[in-house]
Amino acid sequence: MLRSLILAAAGSSKMERLVATAPVSRDVVARYVAGAATEDALRATRGLVDDGLKVTLDYLGEDTLTADQAEATRDEYLTLLQALNKQGLTPAAEVSIKLSALGQRFDEELSNRLAAEICDAAADAGTTVTVDMEDHTVTDITLDTVNELRRNHPGTGTVLQSYLRRTEADCKEFATSGSRVRLCKGAYSEPETVAYQRRLDVDRSYVRCIDALMRGDGYPMLATHDPRLIEIGLDRASWYDREPDSFEFQMLYGIRPEEQRRLSEAGYQVRVYVPFGDQWYGYLMRRLAEKPANLTMFLRSLAGKR
Ligand SMILES: Cc1cc2nc3c(=O)[nH]c(=O)nc-3n(C[C@H](O)[C@H](O)[C@H](O)COP(=O)(O)OP(=O)(O)OC[C@H]3O[C@@H](n4cnc5c(N)ncnc54)[C@H](O)[C@@H]3O)c2cc1C
Repeated sequence: MLRSLILAAAGSSKMERLVATAPVSRDVVARYVAGAATEDALRATRGLVDDGLKVTLDYLGEDTLTADQAEATRDEYLTLLQALNKQGLTPAAEVSIKLSALGQRFDEELSNRLAAEICDAAADAGTTVTVDMEDHTVTDITLDTVNELRRNHPGTGTVLQSYLRRTEADCKEFATSGSRVRLCKGAYSEPETVAYQRRLDVDRSYVRCIDALMRGDGYPMLATHDPRLIEIGLDRASWYDREPDSFEFQMLYGIRPEEQRRLSEAGYQVRVYVPFGDQWYGYLMRRLAEKPANLTMFLRSLAGKR
């Protein structure tokens, strides 16, 4: 219930103005977002890579409304990829893109073209792209786009969300040689008809999906901070005789950083998802929705009670 309310607030421009202008937001945003500029993203990436972690960078923005905005987002990625290459940060650092930021909601052809240009630039820089998954209304067209991008760039990653009832079947389909699949629980508010509503059911689905991915021939990327699922991931990896370089864990910037380092020091690959840019509102609200304690703290601060 609380989660749905926060996710509804993620779509409210009134709420966005309130949160964006509150001085306290700066501290909360700094916990989850590397900064506004490309230099901030590069600095955060350098720190993580020096610590033995891998990175995927997300230029924040979604639900772009004009072709100019979509092209400006593409340009940010091209600049970023050149800088990563110049600083010797690829292939430890790749990028994550959202098709809605490239105009998917009003011009699918445009967003597919811009995504292909980013994949070309990533290949030139010696790295890869993962296509984030958004709400269930775009699951099919996003998977179609990934399949299309993989014709020229087979390493393009896709994301599957265990809260969707369809996902176990998608995992089986995508667990093929060379296929990079990020498995997450899912961050949007989805109806009962398409998505499990109880945490337990989402987690059980996640376990079935781990099993399908680890059993298959692809490259599983387990994106979760959930200690039990991380343990189950390790257990299934050894059950299916997977070497530590044949799968990876992924976690978000600022969330369980000590666990990121623990796994990395234990010899596993860990990739940190690093968001940057000034369009942080939707991203922040999804992070608050995941952990009600964060929200309570944030609301208290907004009301000046901290
Ligand atoms: C690398 C990465 C990429 C992702 N990409 C996508 C995507 O493309 N599409 C999509 O829908 N979702 C994406 N997500 C988000 C994902 O779907 C979940 O919403 C999110 O990861 C929280 O789920 P969890 O598996 O960590 O489990 P949870 O049950 O939510 O959390 C488990 C534990 O992790 C810690 N934790 C989790 N979230 C927070 C937080 N915000 N603040 C503090 N502690 C926290 C807490 O200790 C919590 O008890 C991504 C997540 C990751 C890690």
